[in-house]
Amino acid sequence: MTAPFIPCAVDGCASSAIVEVILYDVYRTDQGAVYDVFYEQDNTCQYLCRAHLSENEHHADTGESDAALRRYRGRVQYPHTNKRQALGFTTYRPLHGTSL
Ligand SMILES: [Zn+2]
Repeated sequence: MTAPFIPCAVDGCASSAIVEVILYDVYRTDQGAVYDVFYEQDNTCQYLCRAHLSENEHHADTGESDAALRRYRGRVQYPHTNKRQALGFTTYRPLHGTSL
């Protein structure tokens, strides 16, 4: 059984997406108690192919010396996702039937 074709959301890209893009954030009180979790599909870029997933992570700008470091309520600039600059960060849900 093959997975349905879902196109990458990057303009001009005709490749098949391998991940769904999710915006993620956790809201905590000053004492550290979690009072909300944000986990929704990124409606500015819903799906990415393998090449654009790599590009999105490789060029993610966190403002930190370690670009892999992501913070709750933080700001990360991505080349393809989170175009409305929501706080938090982008995560990816692998699509069924694909492998990374
Ligand atoms: Zn693509």
